[in-house]
Amino acid sequence: MRYYNIAVPIDKFINFTYVAKEEMNLNEGSVVSVPFKSRTVLGVVIEEAKAYKGAKEVEEKILDLPINLYELVLWVSDYYLCPLGIVYSFILPPFMKRIKRVEEYQIIGKFLNLSTPQEKSYLRIKKAVEEDSHETFLLFGVTGSGKTEVYLRVMEDVLKKGKSVLYLVPEISIIPQVLERVRGRFGMGEAYHYKLSKGMRYSYWMSTYNGKLKIGIGSRMSIFSPFHDLGLIIVDEEHSESYKQEEPKPRFSARDVAVMRGAIERIPVILGSATPSLESYYKAKNGEYIFLELPERVKGQEMPDVEIVDPGRNIFSAEMDKAIKETINKKDMPRVILFLNRRGYAPYGKCYKCGWAARCPNCDISLNFHKATNSLLCHHCGYKMDKVINCPKCGKEVTYLGWGTQRIEEEIKTKYKEYNIQRMDTDSISRRHDHERIYNDLKRGEIQILLGTQMVTKGLDLPDIGLVGVISADTAINLPDFRASERTFQLLSQVAGRAGRGGKGKVIIQSNNPNHYAIRFAKEHNYEGFYDKEREFRLSAKYPPFVNLARILIRSKEEEEVIKVALKIKTKLNESKERELFTILGPVPCPIGWIERNYRYHILLKSEEENLLQRLLKNLYSFRVGGVRISFEIDPVNML
Ligand SMILES: [Zn+2]
Ligand SMILES: [Zn+2]
Repeated sequence: MRYYNIAVPIDKFINFTYVAKEEMNLNEGSVVSVPFKSRTVLGVVIEEAKAYKGAKEVEEKILDLPINLYELVLWVSDYYLCPLGIVYSFILPPFMKRIKRVEEYQIIGKFLNLSTPQEKSYLRIKKAVEEDSHETFLLFGVTGSGKTEVYLRVMEDVLKKGKSVLYLVPEISIIPQVLERVRGRFGMGEAYHYKLSKGMRYSYWMSTYNGKLKIGIGSRMSIFSPFHDLGLIIVDEEHSESYKQEEPKPRFSARDVAVMRGAIERIPVILGSATPSLESYYKAKNGEYIFLELPERVKGQEMPDVEIVDPGRNIFSAEMDKAIKETINKKDMPRVILFLNRRGYAPYGKCYKCGWAARCPNCDISLNFHKATNSLLCHHCGYKMDKVINCPKCGKEVTYLGWGTQRIEEEIKTKYKEYNIQRMDTDSISRRHDHERIYNDLKRGEIQILLGTQMVTKGLDLPDIGLVGVISADTAINLPDFRASERTFQLLSQVAGRAGRGGKGKVIIQSNNPNHYAIRFAKEHNYEGFYDKEREFRLSAKYPPFVNLARILIRSKEEEEVIKVALKIKTKLNESKERELFTILGPVPCPIGWIERNYRYHILLKSEEENLLQRLLKNLYSFRVGGVRISFEIDPVNML
């Protein structure tokens, strides 16, 4: 008999000793089923242990994880401060019995000719593939510059070596088109994401584990696919915040995990984007990543002209109105996309007599008026109530203010009666089918104006968009978040990139802050200019990439309790022997200080030292106070 320390899926950094027969052949990283309390759970073997009387017996060995993946999981547990058993239960599929398919890849699709910059980038990455070396490439390519073709070429080389490819995309909605392109070229590829059925997830997992599937395409969770022979990781749209997982634990960034996995596996990693994250661009500038550029659109298409207009208090400026009419009456590219990042009809309801405002009873934010359902809706917690017509305090009629996509839709349907108009946001789209149907209608010319939220900035290549109109560039710019400018710049650049794929398009951006640098640089398609300016700000205000950042979020129904616990945590942090190596900000109420009937405070920690924040937070991990929830996040993305 042998004894082992085994991690089980509980939210504590402690392990338990179990005993197993020699012939079970357990190793570090073996997944086993063990009795825990009164149930059977999955556990992972950490190390051999001393004999321990009363140790329970391991029931069954399930499998051994690929050793590189086990190493990655250890790193995720340490870096993102998440007990090993929890990381394990996140990455393993639901275990069920399924028939496995056997597939072989074959090259069936035609290769497109590469432009000179594409060729140059491809050859540089190919070198890394041939030499089996770990290098991280930042492939910086403007929208429409043909990044995917470069990915496909490198994939072919990797597959020819008998190795596998992991291709990450930020949104589940993009997976079908990527899958189609990959299968069209290689006759193989499977998707992996949390919306798949348990059976499909199990099937994907086992066929990658068994080496039968060579190409995995998925959202952030697919970074833990159990390939034994991984040869390449692609992270497309690497700047996307969808790569960050907040719930459930582990709270990881799939992009950063990808780079770490590449280092462990000793393979190349490609990060692709038209608007790289500041962190990645900074690393490329400093030589940590290799910078590759596709500066032009393929087929010599030109970047669109961008005009910035201050509409004052109007929702449609005269310039926007004129451009819409002109575009629709053109022969070439007579389609318009209008973009506003706010759904619903009106974001605020207010009584002008007594000052009453429609607010969510659970959260510290306004309720949005949705006209289609005649209701008020909280966009944070989903609370819904009937529309309030008369002020509950004084009886005067409530006024609904501001603009959401539903109201814009109503406005343009009155303004441009003779045109076909379609709205696209999470309220109007219920299934993936709707998404495809709208794109097809648009291609066939059955929709002249497509209006929508961020949803219209992603998805298929549209060949004939003559005008992209941004109704307001200001929705995110004033949020109390150090990434507000970066987000605005990325969003505007991505929306503008939808214009003129088939010729020269036009973009009009409406803003009440027309001189803001994020808007000015987006107008000029000047990433470099934006980067320099933003870099200055991050350096002087001490934000990433110049410091490491961690956030402690403290929540409870009782505000006094939250404050008490937050101050206790601060005291503990102040007692650290390494106190001079880090900065504490707070505790302060979060920008949204109350959500789902919980008060929220946070503490931000900054340090230039590697791993110091992890050490500090690990010491606090077991600190609990009944009724108060404390969560720790490394490299937080959401600061609200
Ligand atoms: Zn009133
Ligand atoms: Zn709410």
